[in-house]
Amino acid sequence: MVDVIIIGAGAAGLAAARIISKTGKTVTVLEARNRAGGRIYTLREGDFSFPVEAGAEFIHGNLPHTTALLKEAEVSFYETTGTTWNIHDGDVSEGELFPDEWDELLTKLRELEHDMSIAEFLDRYFRDTKYSALRDSIVRFVQGYDAADANKASAFALRDEWSGEDSLTGYRPHGGYSLLIDFLVNECLQQGSVFHFNSVVREIYQHNDHVEVKTGSGESFLSKKLLITIPPAVIKAGGIVFTPALDEHMDAIQKIETGSVIKFLVEFKSAFWEKENASPHRSMPGLQFIFSDAYIRTWWTQQPVPDPLFTGWLAGPDAAHNTKDNDALLAEAVKALAYIFRCSQQDIEQQVKTMKVINWGDDPFSRGAYAYKTVDTNSAIAILSQPVHNTIYFAGEAYYNGSEMGTVEAALASGITCAQKILA
Ligand SMILES: Cc1cc2nc3c(=O)[nH]c(=O)nc-3n(C[C@H](O)[C@H](O)[C@H](O)COP(=O)(O)OP(=O)(O)OC[C@H]3O[C@@H](n4cnc5c(N)ncnc54)[C@H](O)[C@@H]3O)c2cc1C
Repeated sequence: MVDVIIIGAGAAGLAAARIISKTGKTVTVLEARNRAGGRIYTLREGDFSFPVEAGAEFIHGNLPHTTALLKEAEVSFYETTGTTWNIHDGDVSEGELFPDEWDELLTKLRELEHDMSIAEFLDRYFRDTKYSALRDSIVRFVQGYDAADANKASAFALRDEWSGEDSLTGYRPHGGYSLLIDFLVNECLQQGSVFHFNSVVREIYQHNDHVEVKTGSGESFLSKKLLITIPPAVIKAGGIVFTPALDEHMDAIQKIETGSVIKFLVEFKSAFWEKENASPHRSMPGLQFIFSDAYIRTWWTQQPVPDPLFTGWLAGPDAAHNTKDNDALLAEAVKALAYIFRCSQQDIEQQVKTMKVINWGDDPFSRGAYAYKTVDTNSAIAILSQPVHNTIYFAGEAYYNGSEMGTVEAALASGITCAQKILA
């Protein structure tokens, strides 16, 4: 029997394993995939000519746990720069488009006394037809950036997010986020943590003085304490059976919503859009972000790094309700890029070196991209942050009660806090 079993070798599980194993306690990490990192997944081998991020990519501002870890791991990072372009009805304009009534919206949000969904808020206070463009752009933003359903996303949480530092993108780690995962895994191994990959946990039994964890292949592991970092969407889908049932905690998990994301990675033979005359394509020198009315609305480049990569983003209900297979999605990506660059699909295909789609909603070990707050989330997290009989603990981005929910920072913070609780 070990002191602590940790289920999940993502950012939260690894941050916790590192702290606990440093004290000399024995730690076993059970991970369903054949790799560590979870939703941090830098593709470093294969068809792309440089590391590309299939999952997390940006550091959203000056975040204490992330920046401390980058420093320790000696991973440098750089600020994202460049120009934002808007393409609507085929016309192009430069600069970020904020609705004219943005300040009025923020003022009204700050006056709000009771939380409600952002869709209900817009319907109540910005129903007039003169606000229809504002309503559309807020719903699109909530779907695109927070990957959330506007009918569920909390107005209070969005008020806090929009009132904070302007850091929608921010920084990127040089060489990829997985360098942080490599660092954490190495530290854990050096301190004696034992990793079991391809170990899909299916059953958890709580006995009087220990916990038993069983995997799909019939292996059994015993520990004094258990830390679960499995994403709530996986647990909601019925992936784990608890004996005895954890009714209160499972009811709370039902209240945590996870947004979907389908990410497109397109490596071109060259960054042709940077040329003054890119014919037959549209020139967009300095391009960082594109917001468009194409089926895949949002795209970005690696600016200021010159790698010729275009990343596409389909998020929120559009991604959750997707029924297209990966080939059909890649065909949509080519169509969207042809529209954006005002050229034929064949022109795009001739420029593509390699392309890949990653549908996080289809992934059985994440079942979505990241959590967002609804009206019920804070009370659910208050329950989930209490251990079951001082034995079973939950950690991860979705179990973190702060404005960074849904990020790597949240996962690290939650893993560190939980490890400290286990040690106490
Ligand atoms: C497309 C995308 C883009 C993102 N962009 C950003 C960004 O730019 N910036 C940012 O800060 N964050 C971003 N995020 C969010 C960030 O990646 C996550 O918040 C963070 O990595 C979550 O870490 P975690 O440890 O909580 O969960 P995970 O990384 O999901 O770790 C949980 C682990 O549990 C394992 N597991 C699941 N089920 C089982 C089981 N039954 N048995 C054993 N193991 C199991 C999983 O395989 C996984 O390794 C993005 C996420 C996605 C998907």
